Amino acid sequence: MARYGGIDLGGTKIQAVVVDEQHEVLGDSRVPTPTEGGPADVTLAMVGAVRDAAEQAGVAPGGLDAVGVGSPGAVDDEAGTVTSARNLPDWEGSYPLAEKLEAALAAPIALSNDVNVATMAEFELGAAKPFRSLLGVFWGTGVGGGIVFDGALWEGRGAAGEIGHMVVKSDGRRCPCGRIGCMEAYAGRGAMETRAREKVDDGEKTVLFKIMEERGRARLSSGIWSRALDRHDKLAKHLLDQAVEAIGVAVASSVNLLDVEAVIIGGGLGLRLGEPYVEKIREATMPHLFTDYRPPAILLASLGDLGGAIGATLLAADKAPAPA
Ligand SMILES: [Zn+2]
Repeated sequence: MARYGGIDLGGTKIQAVVVDEQHEVLGDSRVPTPTEGGPADVTLAMVGAVRDAAEQAGVAPGGLDAVGVGSPGAVDDEAGTVTSARNLPDWEGSYPLAEKLEAALAAPIALSNDVNVATMAEFELGAAKPFRSLLGVFWGTGVGGGIVFDGALWEGRGAAGEIGHMVVKSDGRRCPCGRIGCMEAYAGRGAMETRAREKVDDGEKTVLFKIMEERGRARLSSGIWSRALDRHDKLAKHLLDQAVEAIGVAVASSVNLLDVEAVIIGGGLGLRLGEPYVEKIREATMPHLFTDYRPPAILLASLGDLGGAIGATLLAADKAPAPA
């Protein structure tokens, strides 16, 4: 019986799982991503999370057949390196992540881009299982996208799927990427926080930052946005409505170009706000859809928080040595 590990390396948390051949989760562990130290410290935290998940799954140290990793940044599986991983501490240059993990975990390591991993997880095991073509939209700090055509991931020259940087307003707001009018400038949680702070400076009232303090957070997490909605916060609702409108425009434009069968909405904010916001995104998409008599299925990601890590186990299964 093979046992595979999967790691979703994120800016705030590292999620690890251990699964069997049917990709059933046998153990899982989550640790905060170190905020200082650099790649070596992040790697140590990843090793700890995998060992923890393996122990829960009853797998001895070194007993995993392979481990997959979904990582931000520029990922080169052949070289085993991750370069300039955004949101990770001091991760500017190229780091030999596969070699370091392989040494610590005594298993072959497979690396891929985090968004592509999450897209393939929904395609093979999640909400997009019935479909052959798909656009995955991961709504969190930024907004990432993944594309599947005819059963295979489309990576372009390595950077396909950047739906967050699709232009939704040519003279619009400045995006965290530095350009003007990107969808992420309206919908990314990071950009929304910046906007909320500007509004507060202009004298607008909101409970967003009060909730942040109450919960001892340094950032407006997805949970804080959701709680502000529960408290009928006008600014939170207004900014989220603008985010939904921008996502709707970008999704409709993508579908007009690609004509995929399904759009899956995931990511921290997407999962937290759930079906009511997927419905809002459907409504925001429709007016801009060229073939509006035949819209794509727009669905909530079904693998939840573990989706990225489970997706990484798919990479691991491909990388594992064939049984003798
Ligand atoms: Zn941008």
